[in-house]
Amino acid sequence: MASVEQRTVPEPSTAEAAAADGIPVENPATGEVIAHVPDLGADAVRAMAQRGRAAQPAWEALGFEGRGRILLRMQKWLLDNSDRVIETIVSETGKTWEDAQLAEIMYGASAFGFWAKEAEGYLSDHKVKTSVVMLKGKRLIERYRPLGLIGVIGPWNYPLTNSFGDCIPALAAGNAVILKPSEVTPLTSLLLADGLRDCGLPADVLQIATGRGATGTALVDAVDMIMFTGSTATGRKVMAQAAQTLTPVSLEMGGKDPMVVLSDADVERAANHAVYYGMFNGGQTCVSVERVYVEAPVYDQFVSKVVDKTRAIRQGRSTGPGTADVGAMTFAPQVDIVERHVEDAKAKGARVLVGGHRGTAGDPDRPGNWYEPTVLVDVDHTMECMTEETFGPTLPIMRVSDDEEAIRLANDSPYGLSASVFSKDVARGESVARRLEAGSVCVNDAVINYSALELPMGGAKASGLGSRHGAGGIRKYCQVQALLVSRLHPHKEPHMFPYNARMTKALGKLIKVLYGRGKRD
Ligand code: NDP
Repeated sequence: MASVEQRTVPEPSTAEAAAADGIPVENPATGEVIAHVPDLGADAVRAMAQRGRAAQPAWEALGFEGRGRILLRMQKWLLDNSDRVIETIVSETGKTWEDAQLAEIMYGASAFGFWAKEAEGYLSDHKVKTSVVMLKGKRLIERYRPLGLIGVIGPWNYPLTNSFGDCIPALAAGNAVILKPSEVTPLTSLLLADGLRDCGLPADVLQIATGRGATGTALVDAVDMIMFTGSTATGRKVMAQAAQTLTPVSLEMGGKDPMVVLSDADVERAANHAVYYGMFNGGQTCVSVERVYVEAPVYDQFVSKVVDKTRAIRQGRSTGPGTADVGAMTFAPQVDIVERHVEDAKAKGARVLVGGHRGTAGDPDRPGNWYEPTVLVDVDHTMECMTEETFGPTLPIMRVSDDEEAIRLANDSPYGLSASVFSKDVARGESVARRLEAGSVCVNDAVINYSALELPMGGAKASGLGSRHGAGGIRKYCQVQALLVSRLHPHKEPHMFPYNARMTKALGKLIKVLYGRGKRD
């Protein structure tokens, strides 16, 4: 790990090095410090921005093919080095081997290939047809040009997926990028930046700015566009700061994703999805199932299945494939939030059917950051576990009388990231899905829409602004430029000076002919 840090982290100035002792990185499953990274200050970020801007034009000039070649090499690098990358992710997040393999390596491998091949299709010149008669014969073009230098601020829950998921399309579009990873999980970013360099990415096209919140603040001031993933509270601050320089932002923030289980659902499938997508990655996924509403006729059956499946979860330190189902929590203060939500629910009358304590079963004082997989019932919207983002391995389940109540409660949230609906009647499931206030909704599935890189993924309400994936996921890193090219034309257009009454009347008639016909009520 030390060699990774030495090769990748930019040199801070002497004054900054003196001011910063470096940030310790812990293994959340053991509490041990496994590395230190520099805490870069504003001067270092500004110097990186200068280098990034200097490197960008040559990167852009490589074109889609040249850039795509490097991204495809990186796809292979990631697969060839997957064990090493998984070990790094597991060591700094505490997640399980499988969570790292499925939701980070697989996503990363898919994303490097996808953007390498599809960027050109999303960004190449697009001819536009117009219905405006006066413009007939002219060439209208929508064109995308890279913004220049993109700042990506990443969270700690998916150090590969949530940070590189944004860096890759920004790079594919021809931008230089500065990534500021969470101070909690910087090592994966440093390792991948090394990999990209080994694959031929020119120096300074991607730089990693390790540091704390202040480093993120400095980055917002230094770049042409900010892509932020993290909490809604910090997202608001980033947007307010970016407003000062009119720097565009895209925000992927918190969620409180509801699952709705209708009375005609495949209860076994719904229960499997609730437990897996509520608990995988320790529940620390922006789109994980955070609350469940179950129609009364299948409530008891659903709860009983969820309880059995949650009891069967093996929680512990992941030391290799198949060694644990649910790992540690990545960020120590997050354990306090989970505990607060569970205690608040208990104090207001909820019952804990499984778990409900810090630590792991039988080991409440285990070193590291642990909270037991927990199932709560008799919950309602007076409780924090139903209204605030918990971001932990908890599953609160509420009985509802019908789909109208489920929809009302699911929408009773400031958040609107994702949601899921379970019903064997697909048309009924879809009609409920269409009424949910969420950026994405799955019917008889959950979360996996995220892996469809062609499908936009973004939040409604306080969950976000802009989207990741699809056309919007790469065009946001570009300025759209409208081109109008005239080929055959007279010296002077008829509407130009000097105005005269005859031409004005003729134009008036033309406007009525063009827009005055057709049926209307
Ligand atoms: P934050 O929103 O505080 O941090 C996200 C990123 O922003 C980190 O890299 C952080 O740096 C950086 N940052 C912090 N302050 C600023 C600032 N003023 N300007 C610019 N960048 C800044 O999230 P946390 O990591 O503290 O997690 C808190 C909550 O966020 C969780 O409880 C969860 O609800 C939510 N969350 C949502 C995620 C999602 O995928 N949507 C992912 C992770 C968390 P640093 O880490 O160094 O402080």
